[in-house]
Amino acid sequence: MSPHPTEEIMADGGVRWILSDEEREHLGQLLSVEASTFANLKGNVMNRSRITCKKCGKKSGLDDMVHGAIALGIHSNGYMIDTLLHGPDQPSPAHAIDCSKCEETFEGALAWWSPSNWTF
Ligand SMILES: [Zn+2]
Repeated sequence: MSPHPTEEIMADGGVRWILSDEEREHLGQLLSVEASTFANLKGNVMNRSRITCKKCGKKSGLDDMVHGAIALGIHSNGYMIDTLLHGPDQPSPAHAIDCSKCEETFEGALAWWSPSNWTF
């Protein structure tokens, strides 16, 4: 078992996917900024627990959502960084996301819980 919890059930609903240092590094790489940009980002609050990729075993994370958004080209890096740092102000429709490691689609629909605080 990991000594660090990877999730936290929120009192007002939703499940926080607690951001790991590895994910923080990955976000920095994806968005071309220092990982320390996300030092105060505690994790994204979602409608459900993390999903394990059935192909490579990766746990779904914020990095997978950012990876997908970059691939689609729907948001600027600046917009995504701002949203990550302050939490979303709009609910998201539930949708499938792809694993950023192997491109397999996670089984299940994901949406972030809103409004929710993503920072410490
Ligand atoms: Zn995978």
